[in-house]
Amino acid sequence: MDSLSRCLEELVRIDSTTGKEQRIADYVEAKLAGFGLAVERSENNIIAGTGSVMLAGHLDTVPPASLGQLIPKVANGRLQGRGACDMKAGLAVMLELAQSENATFVFYSGEEGPLPNGLNLLHEKGRLQAKLAVCLEPTNLQLQTACRGRLLTKVTVAGKAGHSSLGSQHNAIYRALELVAKARGLQPMVQAHGGALAVTGIESMGPSNATPTACRILLDYRFPAGATMGEAETFLAHNISAGMEFLDRAPAYSLPKNLSAAFAKHLGPAGVCPGWTDAAQLSGWGIPCAIFGPGKLELAHADDEHVVLKQLELACERLRPLLRSQFA
Ligand SMILES: [Zn+2]
Repeated sequence: MDSLSRCLEELVRIDSTTGKEQRIADYVEAKLAGFGLAVERSENNIIAGTGSVMLAGHLDTVPPASLGQLIPKVANGRLQGRGACDMKAGLAVMLELAQSENATFVFYSGEEGPLPNGLNLLHEKGRLQAKLAVCLEPTNLQLQTACRGRLLTKVTVAGKAGHSSLGSQHNAIYRALELVAKARGLQPMVQAHGGALAVTGIESMGPSNATPTACRILLDYRFPAGATMGEAETFLAHNISAGMEFLDRAPAYSLPKNLSAAFAKHLGPAGVCPGWTDAAQLSGWGIPCAIFGPGKLELAHADDEHVVLKQLELACERLRPLLRSQFA
């Protein structure tokens, strides 16, 4: 436990906001080399070890809310600080396991966006090889073997130009608000099916004395793990508006039942990840990937981001048998 929490403290002290991963990559590289592993580095992305199970974690965090977040605070069995749960706790677990287990350890940059994701770079170079993978994003130690998809869409609603003194009803903002109300009304039904629908932006700005001719709405649709991208697009087109622009598409994924059961044997009952993680990417590239890590997703990116230190030890305990199983 001591070495795990000491390692996490050291990781939190290093500011690794996306785009500034060099120092943390140096730290991880030196640690892995110190364990006697052959380390390969490509920019700020690192691969070490040769096992057939890959453990993957991103090095970057969202920016600290204040400089104080770079000073880890330990109290009541918790460690607080930027990245404590998303996902430096997972990185500390990987570094602990790297000392004794045979696995392929992948540490990469640029996960929090908007810069290029280091995992893609390693994939393009053909460097990612494993039979299976575990992505150590925070899941509160709940195994997840499926992931919702994401469809980010923009709807542009048109109005008719005119002098505001006429009070025309052909107002793009009025029409846009009708769609916002529709999206809000759909949410309970979407949620009942395992998805989520949120309006995340609205924009219209013109002369203060004219009826607006355009209003744009952003809709973030997290569709159920069992749905296809085509089904998700059709759902929005039917229920919100036929004229939408799809800005970002990330497919949902579910591991085949037998694989999900094999992970569950070591890591506990399998559930669905509410967000979208690189586990979907890895699975799409032919490396079936589960998500399992210390820390609560609700605390990721939060000002009081923290992790229960005991979870780091438990994560190691549960991952060890998996790395030593017939998978490995
Ligand atoms: Zn993360």
